[in-house]
Amino acid sequence: MEQSAVIIGAGLGGLFTGAILAKEGLKVTLIEKNPTCGGGLQSFKRFGEVFDTGMHVVGGLHEGGNIYRICKYLGIADKMHIRHVDPYPIDTLYMAQDDKTYFIAQGREEFVDSLAKEFPHQRAELKAYVDAIYRLTDEMDLFYLRPSKGWAVQHGEDFIISVNAFISKYISDPKLAALLAYMNPLYGGIENKTPAFIHALISVLYIYGPSPF
Ligand SMILES: Cc1cc2nc3c(=O)[nH]c(=O)nc-3n(C[C@H](O)[C@H](O)[C@H](O)COP(=O)(O)OP(=O)(O)OC[C@H]3O[C@@H](n4cnc5c(N)ncnc54)[C@H](O)[C@@H]3O)c2cc1C
Repeated sequence: MEQSAVIIGAGLGGLFTGAILAKEGLKVTLIEKNPTCGGGLQSFKRFGEVFDTGMHVVGGLHEGGNIYRICKYLGIADKMHIRHVDPYPIDTLYMAQDDKTYFIAQGREEFVDSLAKEFPHQRAELKAYVDAIYRLTDEMDLFYLRPSKGWAVQHGEDFIISVNAFISKYISDPKLAALLAYMNPLYGGIENKTPAFIHALISVLYIYGPSPF
């Protein structure tokens, strides 16, 4: 019997899922409520200015990166025109509280170094925090697109504590803790609810960066 799947929402998630299932032989129906597909990938124009709705830089597109590997599997990697971004600063964060701009670097050690420049007393804590988010992603085989260790995966104690509890467990400086949470709006993080593993997935993808490193 032919297997079929219905996917609601043609954002990047729905499009990738649909393409993967179709490649695996399923009959896929993708339902989108808007006239255009793409979800957060789209941009729109108002008064001659172009605004992006969400995605402006895509992580994991370096060779070996998870998104790149999915694109390769789908046969589109070689057709994409990827423009790499500078590894430093990969982002600049303006903090109104102290009228100061912080520069963030791509790469695991570089990320720590760039923030430790501004928070030297937190270097060891920053390193422990980065080690902890990498540990969390390591508990998720799918993130690294590797075979699953099994159905009954035992997660560590950090996995489902809230993002804010997780960050303050490792970082004692409240200003640095706020900086590290700055990607919250990107994944709709809710205080005391959104689990730490969501934060880890997004942050590690971001620290890896979109460019070869
Ligand atoms: C401000 C902002 C900046 C971001 N920047 C980045 C970035 O730089 N890089 C990055 O990698 N990620 C970024 N993100 C995150 C990224 O946009 C999302 O992770 C990504 O778009 C999620 O894809 P998705 O397919 O899950 O959801 P979406 O892209 O939101 O797609 C969902 C789709 O489902 C449709 N839909 C919803 N309900 C229904 C329904 N009932 N019936 C039919 N269709 C429906 C919607 O119209 C939409 O097309 C950002 C997010 C935000 C908010």
